[in-house]
Amino acid sequence: MEASSQSDLSIASLATIEAIDDAIQKDKNRYVRKGYGLIVAIFIALSTYLTVPHIMLFVHSYLEGMEEIKIFLLVQLSTTNLSYVIGNIYMYIIYSLKLPFFERYKVDNNPWPWEKSQESWNQTKKKVLLNWILNSTISSLLTVGSVYGGQKFRHDSSSIPSYFELAWQIAFCMIVEDASFYWLHRTLHSPRFYHIHKKHHEFYNTISLAAEYQHPIEFVLTSTATALGPLLLGSHMHVYTLGFWYIVRVFETIDGHCGYEFSWSPYRLLPFSGSSEYHHYHHSHNIGNFSSFFYYWDTLCGTNKDYFNFRKARNNETKLNLMRKVYHLNQQKTKTS
Ligand SMILES: [Zn+2]
Ligand SMILES: [Zn+2]
Repeated sequence: MEASSQSDLSIASLATIEAIDDAIQKDKNRYVRKGYGLIVAIFIALSTYLTVPHIMLFVHSYLEGMEEIKIFLLVQLSTTNLSYVIGNIYMYIIYSLKLPFFERYKVDNNPWPWEKSQESWNQTKKKVLLNWILNSTISSLLTVGSVYGGQKFRHDSSSIPSYFELAWQIAFCMIVEDASFYWLHRTLHSPRFYHIHKKHHEFYNTISLAAEYQHPIEFVLTSTATALGPLLLGSHMHVYTLGFWYIVRVFETIDGHCGYEFSWSPYRLLPFSGSSEYHHYHHSHNIGNFSSFFYYWDTLCGTNKDYFNFRKARNNETKLNLMRKVYHLNQQKTKTS
């Protein structure tokens, strides 16, 4: 009995090691496939990172002397809401231009919702707007509540974060958020709680507007997952790092929902990064792929197997179609010569 449970354990560990090996190989291939997009992604990431402390100093010159709660509210509301608006305007331009340069990055061949029915698209926009206003109000109340509840962040100019502090704190927040989001999201997919999460899944095909479209209860839970890293860091974190973290998080979710797998996305530089295609599969198939920033929780728990099998089958089909095309072209050439 003991021997059989030991062998079960070693089979399970072997499967985990194989899954990790496979994930490392996939990640290597992912970087190679990016081509020139990888250089652009590095440029975006580095220029953002190097500029942020300067922007913090610039912002501080306006906020200096302001009451703590006002600084906190202003930073939180402006970063979350402006990132969502700017991200959606950026995507609106790309959706409207319909340039082949961008369209080749589209994650599927389905038409966009506005191409299917203008009337239902107008209703969707209205629905998303009302939901965003409601959730933003909740977010402000949560922020006020956390300050009155004793939450402390640094907000003085003498301790504007260094590049090192900025890097490790953002990385820490990403890891904490990703872990808590994975388990929260997975729980919300259980039959007991899915009625809360199904609102977000009204979008079968992802678009950037869907990024923050969720039930208010889910919004409070996911906001807590986002705020968990900063809450743990407390006064070790500067309020501007908190603002930057919110920008990183909101743009990440817009990137994940935009419906394009852009090779220049700076988020894809992260090791074991999920992707727009990855989260799109979650919406279109409603199976697995629960993570946000990374996919290692999915790999360790075996919740992205269906996605990788689906991708493998699709790639094989594409290869087969390509081979068929080449064969027919060669046949035609032989006939005409
Ligand atoms: Zn989901
Ligand atoms: Zn989603």
